[in-house]
Amino acid sequence: MDTFTGMLEQMEKMSPSDRQKTMDLARGDCICGDCPTHDACMQVKEELLYCLTAKSACTVVKKACLCPNCPLTPRMGLSHAYYCARGSEKEIRKIV
Ligand code: SF4
Ligand code: SF4
Repeated sequence: MDTFTGMLEQMEKMSPSDRQKTMDLARGDCICGDCPTHDACMQVKEELLYCLTAKSACTVVKKACLCPNCPLTPRMGLSHAYYCARGSEKEIRKIV
């Protein structure tokens, strides 16, 4: 089992409040806010943490992606980028 699927299993076993706490902590570490692709629409909607949630509701114009440099990438075992345009790691991997 890789780091990401292990992390998913751990989160599934958590209580809803612990899961929410984990998501809140991860959101605090997300560096999307510093990314040139993160535009005014995304800021107004207060979007972050696309890798664990879903793609942006805004029209994404790709400029660069900071995900490979994000602390969550090694911690969560993420292996993709441009989650705002592509959807979550789970969606990209087609894990249901
Ligand atoms: S990997 Fe990308 S989308 Fe996920 S928390 Fe980090 S910067 Fe945000
Ligand atoms: S997912 Fe990647 S491209 Fe999109 S805003 Fe976050 S760091 Fe930038």
